[in-house]
Amino acid sequence: MKCVFNAQQNKHYPKSYLVNGVRELNPESPQRVELLLEGAAAAGMTQVEPDSYGIDAIMKVHPQRYLTFLEHAASRWSHIKGAADEVTPNIHPANRDGEYPKSVVAQAGFHMLDASCPISSDTWESSLWSSYSALHATELVLNGESACYALSRPPGHHAGPEVAGGFCYLNNTAIAAERLRDKFDSVAILDVDLHHGNGTQMAFYDRADVLTVSLHANPERFYPFFWGYACETGEGAGEGHNYNFPLPRGTQDEIYLETLDRALEVVEEFQPQALVIALGLDAYEGDPIAGLAISTEGFRSIGSRISAKLRLPTVIVQEGGYLCPQLGENLASFIRGFEST
Ligand SMILES: [Zn+2]
Repeated sequence: MKCVFNAQQNKHYPKSYLVNGVRELNPESPQRVELLLEGAAAAGMTQVEPDSYGIDAIMKVHPQRYLTFLEHAASRWSHIKGAADEVTPNIHPANRDGEYPKSVVAQAGFHMLDASCPISSDTWESSLWSSYSALHATELVLNGESACYALSRPPGHHAGPEVAGGFCYLNNTAIAAERLRDKFDSVAILDVDLHHGNGTQMAFYDRADVLTVSLHANPERFYPFFWGYACETGEGAGEGHNYNFPLPRGTQDEIYLETLDRALEVVEEFQPQALVIALGLDAYEGDPIAGLAISTEGFRSIGSRISAKLRLPTVIVQEGGYLCPQLGENLASFIRGFEST
């Protein structure tokens, strides 16, 4: 399997991360890439560079107003006297269907869901290339590869059409799914990241052509808190095309894999023609975020069950998974499992 990555994705180096009122080091660091590339090599993947794809494929998910904000926010912010290096919101609208103010401070609150997605002068370019990696992996699958892996970093599944959040700016998974839709009538997204893929859910919530399924730690006491409940089933034409499987904190392999089997039944019933896997590795038992407790061997089982059950053209997009010695090995384990059937 090929692994798609471009070094421009490493320029984004977020510093701040507001958690429990404390500014901590942001765990979505470029060092993650080193470990993931080691894991990709260990699994026998060959690394390829993505082409540049321009903005049209990204605008299938994100409107121009949001992209303009992302591209220029850091420069505009730098003109505020005494402002910090990174754009971080300090005010949010109660809802997002009212006026769109001109101030970059207000637009930051409008377009950023939380304080864990700071924007620097490097964020736009790295996010673009992260999406290009997902698009390039998609092109390879459209051209006949059975599966391809995009080392997309920064990640994307918390980014909604008009909002950044949770270390995510452009929703690479959603962008890949939209590109697959150019060829395939129906596409399924299966999100196995520790966290609910709220941005992906937002992007397709009223759509019947893209099924969104997510397994994650129960949001009652876990990020992203306001989304990810089993009762969120889609709306309008999308009713019945969104499935959430919230899991108790600390869930281990056995219960997780049973739940995955139910999720795979849902995907199979939908009869999609192609699949996007939002591959977070932060459900790992040793991940610093400490939400679920999947073992390294468990990731192999997750990979093998998905490929054995669905047998679809598949784009695998990297989402979360944070610094711990086994990060690369967990990727290798998933890929080996996926390729074993
Ligand atoms: Zn995550």
